[in-house]
Amino acid sequence: MQTPDIRIVLVSPSHPGNIGAAARAMKNMDLSCLVLVNPRQFPHAEASARASGADDVLRAARVVPALRQALAGCGYVLATTARERDQYFRVLDVREAAARLVAECARAPAAVVFGAERSGLSNDELEMAHALVRIPASPAYASLNLAMAVQLVAYELYRARGAAAPVSAPLAAPLATTEELERLYAHFHEVLEQIDFRDRTHSGTHLMARIRRLLQRAEPDQNEVNILRGILTAVQNRRRPAGGEPR
Ligand code: SAH
Repeated sequence: MQTPDIRIVLVSPSHPGNIGAAARAMKNMDLSCLVLVNPRQFPHAEASARASGADDVLRAARVVPALRQALAGCGYVLATTARERDQYFRVLDVREAAARLVAECARAPAAVVFGAERSGLSNDELEMAHALVRIPASPAYASLNLAMAVQLVAYELYRARGAAAPVSAPLAAPLATTEELERLYAHFHEVLEQIDFRDRTHSGTHLMARIRRLLQRAEPDQNEVNILRGILTAVQNRRRPAGGEPR
């Protein structure tokens, strides 16, 4: 049984062969939803050759210009990384991550994001995820080939689906989508400017990144995002001179 609700997102892959190999890894493990963000070369003969019997997954792949579009409509989002990251991200082992994704995709599409061969994912891209996933590997060289990383995540998803208990009643409120979270952060930014709240982080440029990470880690649902948006709007209304237009 295929699970169209788990998206595999490859950000700026440089080698078409890796795209093909990722498609094959997905089909082997019953995944079909591949999204390519700004691939360097696609479609490409090397991608088709490496996909082998998974050319249907490749043909159905969506190509989008930016990660935001790839995550449109998604609830739970995980980003994969080989690197040790700072303490502000929650980091899941690949097996835990797979179990969580299988549970989450019952209520909204979920996504796993992979970075480019050389550079991996940028901080801005990581900040769009609720948590990071690391595939345990030798500290001497923990950076796997992109398609092999997709293979391991896909394999764990396959196993997790096999082990998953039948889905019971969906959790109370759906997680806020990527778009809803982006609107919340834009609103936060606007209010901080309006109330003249100064960035006192060490570098003076990280406040919004810290707020994002805090909220991504909290995995807010749609009701919680609405509460925060309501508070922000109330702050803005307070500041408006008497007779100003309410938002
Ligand atoms: N130099 C890059 C490596 C990129 S490898 C970096 O330091 O991030 C290409 C992609 O494969 C990564 O962005 C990630 O999506 C995936 N990947 C490679 N090794 C991984 C690991 N050990 N755990 C999780 N993802 C990994």
